[in-house]
Amino acid sequence: MSDFDPTQPGYDTQAIIEKDKAHHVHPWQVFDVFRDEGALPIVKGEGSYIFDSEGRKYFDAVGGLWCNNIGLGRKEMAEAIAAQAYQLSYASPFVDLTNIPAAELAAKLASLAPATLNHVFFTCGGSTAVDTAFRMIHYYQNCRGKHAKKHIISRINSYHGTTYASMSIGGKPGDHPPEFDFISDTIHHLSYPNYYRCAAEGMSESEFVDTLVQEFEDKIEELGGADNVAAFFAEPIMGAGGVIVAPEGYLKRMHAVCKANDILYVSDEVVTAFGRLGHWFASEDEFGIVPDMITSAKGLTSGYQPLGALLFSDEIWDVLNAENSGRCFAHGFTYSGHPVACAAALKNIEIMEREQLLENVKEVGPYFEQQLKTLEDLPIVGQVRGRKFMVCVEYVADKKTKALFPEELDIGKRVSNNADELGLITRAIVHLNVMSPPLTMNKDEVDFIVATLRQAIEATIAELR
Ligand code: PLP
Repeated sequence: MSDFDPTQPGYDTQAIIEKDKAHHVHPWQVFDVFRDEGALPIVKGEGSYIFDSEGRKYFDAVGGLWCNNIGLGRKEMAEAIAAQAYQLSYASPFVDLTNIPAAELAAKLASLAPATLNHVFFTCGGSTAVDTAFRMIHYYQNCRGKHAKKHIISRINSYHGTTYASMSIGGKPGDHPPEFDFISDTIHHLSYPNYYRCAAEGMSESEFVDTLVQEFEDKIEELGGADNVAAFFAEPIMGAGGVIVAPEGYLKRMHAVCKANDILYVSDEVVTAFGRLGHWFASEDEFGIVPDMITSAKGLTSGYQPLGALLFSDEIWDVLNAENSGRCFAHGFTYSGHPVACAAALKNIEIMEREQLLENVKEVGPYFEQQLKTLEDLPIVGQVRGRKFMVCVEYVADKKTKALFPEELDIGKRVSNNADELGLITRAIVHLNVMSPPLTMNKDEVDFIVATLRQAIEATIAELR
């Protein structure tokens, strides 16, 4: 038995840190920094709060990693997970076996999803949902005899996951370091819809959208026409790429280009689904588009269990499922439709419905946006942006020119370190702090976040003097 028990006070924090440093390789580990500093052990979570191994308490405004939608440590969730693990901890999902939570959850998701997205493939998280979409897209196009439809188009600064295909579809330059290889012959990146940074001087939002749509059409031409283009991937609001809310009409017009060219539109809702924008899925309800595929994860279980889901349309299903084709969809994971993860998702959705958390996001979200905007009076805050429970603060060295601080200054990290000291967790991404709090957040908590972040930014300004 491990000598580490977080429920018992008195465990040796330093020993945990040393074991972690010696053996636990972290995602996005910055080796030189980690070697010296290691990682902070988090030992308990309750609602929106996390507690470190020294007993310090923080309001986690990041919601874990955009995933803690209903709050941490709910007994009801733990009981549902335990009951399912006791009843049936695992059953193979392959070919001709199923389990009750997986079947129930697939039907539930189909009932919540837009229009004809009635088919669900379960994965282990968001990256594997994107990877599954990638494979299904080519499978579908080949089934239709469209063997040349191979090219995938996405956007610079998008984030779609970390498997070989999903990371190649993603377009964050920092995630494509030269030490890694990527698929580059069939995956292409368009400009991203960041009006604040990328629009030419004096350009209106609608003119900016015109240029982005034109770029998409030009790219299709450059690739030899629509017969060679299989799919377009886009997050409704770019998350890790800096919470980029595209100008009005952008998503609809990109979607229209896809429809006009027989290109599949994949909406990556790994962050935006399950309430973050006040809807089960944001594509249709917030942005008025019905994609061919939606990838989801995170808020699906609120992080209580690892689970992702790819939802896709009847139209795609009819091609895959054509009678007498003799086809097999040779793709899947040992843990696809895992009964315990699916039971967690069902309970998570039940809690969101019962507590009307989507309504709370619709009510508190605009207040959060409005209050956070007040930080724009600070001399290093260039822009506060985002929507409802998905927001971001961008720091600049010069508000007029929008010049950024040198990367080595790590401005986002400096602010988030100061916020940590004040009991608030925000996520630093170079010159940004992003936030995606639990959907239970109330207006008092908004006031705490805004006041604390103001204090952290002011402390950072003082350090820079
Ligand atoms: N897609 C988007 C939009 C994401 O934000 C993420 C993760 O942050 C992923 C995909 C990958 O999900 P996961 O980390 O569960 O594999």
